[in-house]
This record gives sequence, structure tokens and C-alpha cells, in this order.
Amino acid sequence: RHTGKLLSSNVPCLTGRQVMDDLAHRLNRSVALDNDCCCFALSEAHTQQARQFSRIFGAIIGTGMGGGLVIDGQLYRGRNRMASEFGHLPLPATFMRRYNLPEITCGCGLQGCLERYQSGPGLLWLHKHFSGEQLKMETLLEKYRHGNASAVATVEAWIDMLGCTLAQLQLILDVDAFVLGGGVSNIEEIYTLLPGAMSRYLFPGLAPANVFPAVHGASSGVRGAALLLVEQDALMH
Ligand SMILES: [Zn+2]
Repeated sequence: RHTGKLLSSNVPCLTGRQVMDDLAHRLNRSVALDNDCCCFALSEAHTQQARQFSRIFGAIIGTGMGGGLVIDGQLYRGRNRMASEFGHLPLPATFMRRYNLPEITCGCGLQGCLERYQSGPGLLWLHKHFSGEQLKMETLLEKYRHGNASAVATVEAWIDMLGCTLAQLQLILDVDAFVLGGGVSNIEEIYTLLPGAMSRYLFPGLAPANVFPAVHGASSGVRGAALLLVEQDALMH
């Protein structure tokens, strides 16, 4: 936080670099910088849909998995700006046993991170692991929609694990809503399947938090980056 040096699991060449200072120097003006998930969360917390909520967790589930927590319109970043990096929590041992999964090494340097199993590539990896079939996302979803048994088994296992992840975030943060972005958020079925999956990992009687797709889709990160300046202004005045 004090040095401005970045730590990046998926873009290793940025690790240790002071990108914000470098950009500010090159452009000869001040620059606001944050990670894509925080920008996404900030954007989705500032929509008509989000107005009724004060605590929003924006989660990008695409090639990787990361999030941002916005409380009353402000991003909660934490001491090292590392808050909401939930994609790098370890997959619970329950799932390792239930689905006979190995611990995979993650780009961040840790083992068995959630994003290895629950991101878009994670879903395809799971299917390969279970069935031996290396499919593209479209094909897997097409098979799932036609009731193909192995595709259904993969998607059900994946939803089970993803539901647990959101339930655990809910138990820690007790947010009003999760807004999902990234490639996986375009799979329509997840919005009907996730609440049931989340309920299995919440106290009986506790309703799962709302889960919505992003209002601004793939443009939300950029919209959020623009909002960083609005946020900065609001903090200064
Ligand atoms: Zn990781």
C-alpha cells in the first residue's frame, strides 16, 4: 500500500512494478488505478438495480476469479488493497474428497485455489477431469442443455462448489447482493441454480443473498475505472 508495488497472480510481469507512478509519470498527470474486480464492483454498486442495497459484492468469474466489496458506495480495499481476493482461498477438503480432485498449483504460488476449479477454465478442467473430454465452453453448455449425463454431472458439481463459495462469502460479509461478471456470468442457468446451492452451506433458515448478473456486462470494469475518479473526489470533499 505504501510502496505502490503491485502483486499480480495472472499478469506476473506486473509484480513488483509501480504501475500507477509509471503511468502518472509518462502521462504527466495523476492517475487512479485499481484491479479489474474492484473497478467492476464499484461500477455495479452504482446502478439503478443496486440502489436498494448498501452492501454489494461484485465477483468476476471469468478466466480468473476475484471480487470487490462496496459498502455504501465506497470500495472496501483493506490494509494492502488485497481485500476480496476470494479466488485464492483453498478449495475445501470436503470437495477434494467428494469429487476426487487433486490440489492444483495456482499462478499466485498457492495450491488448490478456488479459481482453478470454479473459473471458466476451471469448469472446463473439471469436465476433462471427470469425463476425459476436452470441450469448449459452448459445447459443454450445449450438452448440458440437452441433458447429457456427463455434462450435467460436471455442471452440478461446479454449481455445488460455487454455491459454497458464495455462501461462505455471505457468512463472512453478510452482503445484500452478489453481482456476477466475467464469462461465466453469461450462463443464464446459474441464477436459478446458485440460490439452492448456497442454501446447502448456510444456516438453516438463512436466505441466500441475491445473485444478479452485471448490469453493464463486459464494459463494467472500464465504467468502474472511470468511477474511481468520482470516488476520489467524494473522499476529498
Ligand atoms: Zn491462487
